[in-house]
Amino acid sequence: MNSVPNSERRHIVFVGRRNVGKSSLVNAFIGQDLCIVSEVAGTTTDPVKKAMELLPFGPIILIDTAGIDDVGELGEKRINKTIKAIASADFAVVVVEAAVQLSPKEWELFNYLNKISIPYVIAVNKIEFGVNQLLLSEIKYLNATHFEISCAENVGIDALKRRVVRMLPNEIGPPLIGDLVSQGDVVVLVVPIDLGAPKGRLILPQVQTIREALDEDTIVIVCKDKELRSVLYNLKSSPDLVITDSQAIMRVAADVPDNVKLTTFSILMARYKGDLQTFVKGLHTVEKLQDGDKILIAEACSHHAQEDDIGRVKIPRWLRLHTKKDLQFDVSSGLEFPNNLIDYKLIVHCGGCMLTRRAMQMRIKEAQILDIPIVNYGVLISYMHGAIPRVLIPFEEAAGQWTIAD
Ligand code: SF4
Repeated sequence: MNSVPNSERRHIVFVGRRNVGKSSLVNAFIGQDLCIVSEVAGTTTDPVKKAMELLPFGPIILIDTAGIDDVGELGEKRINKTIKAIASADFAVVVVEAAVQLSPKEWELFNYLNKISIPYVIAVNKIEFGVNQLLLSEIKYLNATHFEISCAENVGIDALKRRVVRMLPNEIGPPLIGDLVSQGDVVVLVVPIDLGAPKGRLILPQVQTIREALDEDTIVIVCKDKELRSVLYNLKSSPDLVITDSQAIMRVAADVPDNVKLTTFSILMARYKGDLQTFVKGLHTVEKLQDGDKILIAEACSHHAQEDDIGRVKIPRWLRLHTKKDLQFDVSSGLEFPNNLIDYKLIVHCGGCMLTRRAMQMRIKEAQILDIPIVNYGVLISYMHGAIPRVLIPFEEAAGQWTIAD
């Protein structure tokens, strides 16, 4: 169970004012004292995460957060982190105190949850001190599911858990390749092992693709780009699908006959995590870039940059060569876009393998609200290497989007 990557688990965030019992409830959920519980308001600072199996649902991550009414300069920063944790969660448990009515901060929180369409349940905690009837009227007005609980006396927690299991969104998006292949198909995966490849292992998108292809009862052949010709030559008939690392797309496209479907791991991930059509639409901006335009290279996590780093070196070089324009590049890493997002003509996003689909969707939405075109590394690399629309052919709607944008 622990090998399930965090990005593949449903994220449940526990939010509310300070000292309403969020940490106690997280501890009651997992049955151990992970979060520090104290009568002193504001004990939880940064979000605390715990991976666990929520039966009968499956692997999840519980996130305990700082209070939404935190104060001071540091408090503001904690609130921002809480807001980010909410935005990338799949479900929220809002903890309120039974004896009092909702505060303005709590009304703001419910408005925010509704605005970004996150399903939630309200845990009315500390019922041992009585339940305020006006609070219940307010909850009724919100049309929200609520549970009256007491963490101190362990009342109502199991019923709340059962309801969370029922309310958790099950499907999070399209499959990686499940709908592109059929039982018995031959799928060739091209995995270059170069300096950029992690030592002794495959990267997450490759592992996930192999697993999903095996789940579909296909025959999976994994090879390096150097051996691809030999693999194709030795097969009795053409493979049904070839999937390659984006950086090898030129060599691979030259080796794979035109009548064989070809795509990249990045494009699979763009559809699985993000929005392939939006990324394809974003490509249209590349030809409109002008001297001095700013491009944001957005990476969702920090990593040790290689000498010939894809985001910092290769993509800027390829884009300048392709457009013949003097473009300016900034790099951001981490879960937040920079505050000056509006200054950028194009966002080039990493594959987002460490992000949940929800978190990736939020980032795309942020770009769309500001009307800033967004592409991801793989889609852009395929475009600059002349492989678009070929690598989009397996995806009817994205290929259609390319024709519209063209
Ligand atoms: S693709 Fe993005 S999220 Fe995945 S390792 Fe690279 S920078 Fe991090």
